[in-house]
Amino acid sequence: MIDAHDLVKHFGPTRAVDGLSFSAVKGEVVALLGPNGAGKSTTMRMLTGCLEPDSGIASICGYDAVRARRAAQSALGYLPEGAPAYPAMTPRAFTRFHLRVRGFKGQALRDAAELALERARMGDAAGRPIGMLSKGFKRRAALAAAIAHDPAVLILDEPTDGLDPNQKDGVRALIRMMAPDKTILISTHLLDEVEAICTRAIVITGGRIVSDTTPAGLISTAPDQSLAGAFRMLTGHSAEQAVARAASRRKRPS
Ligand code: ADP
Repeated sequence: MIDAHDLVKHFGPTRAVDGLSFSAVKGEVVALLGPNGAGKSTTMRMLTGCLEPDSGIASICGYDAVRARRAAQSALGYLPEGAPAYPAMTPRAFTRFHLRVRGFKGQALRDAAELALERARMGDAAGRPIGMLSKGFKRRAALAAAIAHDPAVLILDEPTDGLDPNQKDGVRALIRMMAPDKTILISTHLLDEVEAICTRAIVITGGRIVSDTTPAGLISTAPDQSLAGAFRMLTGHSAEQAVARAASRRKRPS
């Protein structure tokens, strides 16, 4: 459902993503973990067709994210970083707009929008301008728009960013509820989120995968048997230096 094959992306001299490959299938909730600047958002933007890789192939449900962008994006819901960009629109209008762009019409459009707004627990905020909403409601407005067309694949960049603990629980419950029928990739800094909802954790640093296992498998690698310990061990200063040394060895002419 989600396939990343040897993805590479540079920004000027920065090698943001450095030969990254993985696949995820229906029923999986995969966490993309890594320190700031590791390449998580860049990877997600390539998978969603928002950014072209320098090399490698990203595909969604078998459709190339660049060459078959429309087909790939119709199978995909994407929650990008940040909030919806239309402050004067209400979440209801924003969700309906997303559905209209995807070809929904009439009662089917209205029903799908109301279901998504309900699932994102928007309540009365669904009818207020996005610009006047709290960060948590803005985030959930974007989530409602991302899930409204019931896509097979969801790519969610820090879905619980800015939410209070109750709202976090609500979004995690929604992800768990949708998980059996979908392939879900999330990025997060919250290790408790990985344990709560993810079936698999991919750790990246310096644009490369340094671990790809279950949350329990990741925990078992840490000296203190904790996710935080495993994360520190894989992405801490000495681990990053090791990745940088390996990258410079690869770039050296033979
Ligand atoms: P993460 O999401 O893991 O924090 P990003 O994918 O945002 O990491 O960034 C990876 C690297 O690429 C960082 O060094 C970041 O500064 C750089 N980067 C990301 N987007 C851009 C951009 N549009 N222009 C220049 N550099 C970028």
